[in-house]
Amino acid sequence: MRIITIIGARPQFIKAAMLSQAIRQRQAEDCPIQEKILHTGQHYDYEMSDIFFTELGIPAPAWHLGCSTSVDEMVQNIIPILQEERPDMVVVYGDTNSTLAGALAASHCNIPIAHIEAGLRSYTDMAEEHNRVATDRLAHWLFCPTSTAVDNLHKEGITQRVYQVGDIMYDAAIQVGLMPSSILDRLDISAPYLLATVHRAENTDRTERLAHILTAFARLNRLIILPLHPRTRKVISAHPELQQLLQQAANIRVIDSVGYADIATLEKNAYCILTDSGGIQKEAYFHRTPCITLREETEWVETVQTGWNTLVGTDIHRILSAVNNVRRPQQEITEYGSGTTARQIVDILCAF
Ligand code: UDP
Repeated sequence: MRIITIIGARPQFIKAAMLSQAIRQRQAEDCPIQEKILHTGQHYDYEMSDIFFTELGIPAPAWHLGCSTSVDEMVQNIIPILQEERPDMVVVYGDTNSTLAGALAASHCNIPIAHIEAGLRSYTDMAEEHNRVATDRLAHWLFCPTSTAVDNLHKEGITQRVYQVGDIMYDAAIQVGLMPSSILDRLDISAPYLLATVHRAENTDRTERLAHILTAFARLNRLIILPLHPRTRKVISAHPELQQLLQQAANIRVIDSVGYADIATLEKNAYCILTDSGGIQKEAYFHRTPCITLREETEWVETVQTGWNTLVGTDIHRILSAVNNVRRPQQEITEYGSGTTARQIVDILCAF
């Protein structure tokens, strides 16, 4: 069985690392399964892409398209590859433009699609939501991380080949415990700190929202480690008032985006995490660090229901109040599985 995995953005590299590993294991056991990776080039900076291939041992991509973020351009480039290779299936992850482009190209070539992280919904008008809804419509196998994701698909009439398999990012979170990181020493952090990440288009494209977030951070008066996503860096560089906000905030320590072992170590040791990332909301829970989410809604509703995550949007007072009222709830989330998600997915695919 021949699989082409189509990925292009940071969170997909981390998830794909887990699946590739499970594919190699199954291959060594009994299943004639082969994987080739197609990298769209959506994320191309070293710290957003190559670092994960090296650190997580992801097989080198067989194709690197060097595309921009345009779905059209990606689709046009992917189709000829699929037509020539004729794989038995295409695997896509999550909700980025690379996900949708992979699904559209595979559908055009009549190749069945496996969607990992299917069924998530924010019920907003964001690009990510359109990408995941459309991909779910096109997918043959829908691998859901939670029962909420399964219910969301059922509500939309999608009931065939829907599998609740847990969260593949939890597989990664378990494994990262075995990977060393010297980030705390390298940054010479001795005091308690908050970890913050901001990169969602809804927060970076509207500069007043980013200004609110940075103003709240500055007023927190506690050390904040802020690994800056290239998109956010670009927006800040283009707006002198945002640059000034950062320069005047002595408590905010901006660093480049870091690798997976480093971010996990920063997450684990933080007093709390402020983020608009989907993945980091769950990782906060995996490491039992309280999370404050700089959005009005989340796809990961169980993190909020159990009290581990608080939604605050970009309102300065809500951000400050959430940090001042941080607590560590007792309730656990069982839905993310036990670190065997990648293996379960490969077993289902091998049975095809
Ligand atoms: N991440 C990382 N280095 C960083 C920031 C994030 O490795 O400097 C990882 C993080 O641990 C998580 C993933 O990137 O696994 C989340 O990706 P991102 O926030 O870019 O996207 P989202 O999850 O919102 O789709």
